[in-house]
Amino acid sequence: MSRENLVNPMLRLPEAELSPLGDGPPMRVWSGVTPVGCVLLHDVGCEPCAGYLRRLRAAAVLSGKEVRAVVCGPGQGPAHLLVAEPPAEALVLAFADPQRTMTAALGLPPPAWLVADRWGAVLVQRSAGDTHDWPDPGEIADWITFAATQCPECQGEAY
Ligand SMILES: [Zn+2]
Repeated sequence: MSRENLVNPMLRLPEAELSPLGDGPPMRVWSGVTPVGCVLLHDVGCEPCAGYLRRLRAAAVLSGKEVRAVVCGPGQGPAHLLVAEPPAEALVLAFADPQRTMTAALGLPPPAWLVADRWGAVLVQRSAGDTHDWPDPGEIADWITFAATQCPECQGEAY
């Protein structure tokens, strides 16, 4: 983690509501309550992306943190099947994004990941590249922890 990873502070998560994979009404991918880690995944036919979602769900280091997976497509690929499995260590909510709202808002095609603060301001975003070079889940956890201690309202004091 270093400052050169920090992105344009004006970059924000979109307000658009997406449909959860599986079941449930559309909702915004970030709650506004705590920082959020988010991965953008390929949809149909991409095992590396589904495999990373499985890895995130099994990551104890992400337990209790807000983590979202956005499947950039109709949500009928391998990731869809994971939703039927009981959550492991981390509750990773997964959404379908057939209109590619997230990619359009952030200029970020899948596979990619980001961490935003509770206000939806993106602190870091990275492409995983064609080779699906995903970060260790602990790196995402570290960024979420970092985001939780950065508060523009109170000059960096934790709330
Ligand atoms: Zn993929």
